Amino acid sequence: MRALQLIAPGKIELRDVDVPTIESDEVLVRVAGAGLCHSDLHMLHAPIDRPPLTLGHETAGWVDTVGGEVDGFAVGDPVLVYLVWACGECRSCLEGRDNSCEVAGGRMSLPPCPGLGPAGGMAEYIAVKARYLEPLGALDPVLAGPLADAALTSHHAIAGAMHRLGPGTTAVVIGLGGLGHTGLQILSAITEATLIGVDLDQAKLDFAAAHGATHTFLSDATTADKILDITSGYGADAVFDFTGIQPTVDLAISCIAPDGCLRFVGLGGGTFQYGALPWATLPWGVDLRKSYAGNRADQRAVIELAAAGKIMLETKQYDLEDGLSAFDDLAAGKLLGRAILVPTI
Ligand code: NAD
Ligand code: ZN
Repeated sequence: MRALQLIAPGKIELRDVDVPTIESDEVLVRVAGAGLCHSDLHMLHAPIDRPPLTLGHETAGWVDTVGGEVDGFAVGDPVLVYLVWACGECRSCLEGRDNSCEVAGGRMSLPPCPGLGPAGGMAEYIAVKARYLEPLGALDPVLAGPLADAALTSHHAIAGAMHRLGPGTTAVVIGLGGLGHTGLQILSAITEATLIGVDLDQAKLDFAAAHGATHTFLSDATTADKILDITSGYGADAVFDFTGIQPTVDLAISCIAPDGCLRFVGLGGGTFQYGALPWATLPWGVDLRKSYAGNRADQRAVIELAAAGKIMLETKQYDLEDGLSAFDDLAAGKLLGRAILVPTI
C-alpha cells in the first residue's frame, strides 16, 4: 500500500509499504481521510533521526478486517481513530484523564499517538486496537478525521474552562487555523461567552465572524489593548492560544483577566517567565493549563456536536499522492481550516 512517511528530518516521501497485519484485539481500518495537523510540520522539522514513520494522527475510515477477539465492529462500519492510546487501567485513565496516562505515558511523556510513534493514517490502511475506535454513525469518514485532534484538542481546552465561560464572559481564540477555527465553533455551540477571534489572516477572521465571533482582530502589537478596551480594561475570562509562538504567548498573557483561564495549546515555541511578585506577569487567580489532546469524553462530545451539525470543519481534500503539496500549503499559511489527505484506492 502507499503511505506518506517521514524518512529523515525535513523529508517526507510517498512509499510502498506492507499492509499492516492485525492482532486478535485489533481492527484493520481502510483509511477514508487523514487530516494534516501543524504538529506534522513540527514533526517534519524536528532534528530527530528515527526509522521511517507513517504520519497522520487524524484518521477516519471503514472497518476492513476485525481480529478474532473483537466485538462490536463489523466490516464497512465508519470509524474514527482516537489518538490517545492509553493503558485504560491506571489511576489517570480510570479518572477519565487518559490523555495523562501514567503507564503508557509518564510525567514528561505522552501515551502513544498514531503517526507520532505507531504508524499513522496517511496511508491506505491503519491497524488499530478496537478499543481506540469510535463509531462515526452517519458522519462521512472522508471528512471526519480532524475530529480526532483539531476538535478533540480544542474541546478539551474549552471543557476545562467552562466554569469561566458563563453569561457575560469573554473568550479569546488566538490562531484560527485547524484547531482554532474548530475551537471557536465549539465555544459558540456550548458556551455563552462573547467570542473574539485573532489571526494574521483576514480570511480566517472572516470565517470566525461568520461562525460566532463578535469581534475579530488582526494580530499585532495593538491587539491586547483592543481586547482590554472591549472588556473595560479587565481582560478576557478565557484565552485559548492555538498558535503558541512568542507574539501569541505575549498577547495571551497581556489580555487575560483576574481568575481567567489561560489555555496554551499551540506548540510554536513561545515562552514566558513567571514572576512570583504581587504585580508581576499575571493577574491574581489566573489558572493556566498546558493542554494536551483530550480524553475519551471530549472525543465523544465532538462527534456528537458534529453529528448535530453544531460544528462544521472547513476542509480541503488532497489526494494522498499530492500529500506534499498539502504540507507546503499548510506551511505557507494558505489553508483555511484543515487539509485532508484522501487515498484513492
Ligand atoms: P494551523 O497552521 O492550522 O493554524 C495556526 C493558525 O495560527 C493559523 O491560522 C495562522 O494564521 C495563525 N497564526 C500564526 N501566527 C499568528 C499570530 N502571530 N497571531 C495570531 N494567529 C497567528 O495549525 P493547527 O493545526 O491548528 O495547530 C496549531 C498549533 O497547535 C500547532 O503548534 C500544533 O502543533 C499545536 N497542536 C497542539 C496540540 C496539543 O495537544 N497541545 C494538538 C494539536 C496541535
Ligand atoms: Zn495534531
